[in-house]
Amino acid sequence: MVQKEAASLRLLLDPLVASGVAPADLANDPIRFARAYSAPADQEVAAAVAACLAFGRVTLFGPVLRDLFAAADERGGPAAFARALAEGQVPGRPFAGLYYRWLKEPDLVGLFATFGRALRATGSLAACFPGPDALGAGIDTLRGLLPPDASRALRAAFPHPRDGSACKRWCMFLRWMVRPGAPDLGLWTHLRPAELVIPLDTHIFRVAGFLGLRTRRAADWRTAMEITAALRVLHPHDPLRYDFALAHLGISGRCRGKRDAEVCPSCPLERGCTA
Ligand code: SF4
Repeated sequence: MVQKEAASLRLLLDPLVASGVAPADLANDPIRFARAYSAPADQEVAAAVAACLAFGRVTLFGPVLRDLFAAADERGGPAAFARALAEGQVPGRPFAGLYYRWLKEPDLVGLFATFGRALRATGSLAACFPGPDALGAGIDTLRGLLPPDASRALRAAFPHPRDGSACKRWCMFLRWMVRPGAPDLGLWTHLRPAELVIPLDTHIFRVAGFLGLRTRRAADWRTAMEITAALRVLHPHDPLRYDFALAHLGISGRCRGKRDAEVCPSCPLERGCTA
């Protein structure tokens, strides 16, 4: 991307973030579950669990997350509960009747227990994600901490970039942990925002096409890298600074994914959008 194109894209995208995070978007984003806690270990575990369930419609996974964290809160909060599960110290069925899509009740228990084992082993999920290949290293470590009898559904919650997956949920988790400033938590300082890869969901894939940020047609890891590289030209130190705003343009319905006489005229991207 030439500097002139980058400058005009920056002008187009900056208004999206200039007014800060819209409360309605935050209320509709899974990061709100992690932001509800103040202790870093609780935030890490809540973020990891919320990210793993953040697929499909927010109106469907949101209530499940609410019930999961209510059960965890009754037992000392997400981190203490995850550790207790890892030690086999939680009697009964804390998530009785809870499931989300293919993740059944034992998978949800296994998910928390996996993060509990990571906390017991290293004291913090941050230690599971050392640079420079933080995502790949983190997934390898967490896969090694899964219960031996983990179902296919639970294993699928830990995709690896080497298999070609865009790993959207884990890229999102890393954005939450590493980027400072709302809506992100900026808990981890051993990684830099410049190293992050964009969480490639349907909305980002579509709008990146409209803005000429990608040439590839598959929503995979290589496309996530392509879009991130284009954004890095705009902001070398913080390529993901527009991610939340761009994703919520689609999530909120303010962008309908195609040229629309009702919404496009008031869209801040209208001048540069090729939809
Ligand atoms: S101009 Fe229309 S199609 Fe393009 S991003 Fe904005 S709302 Fe979406």
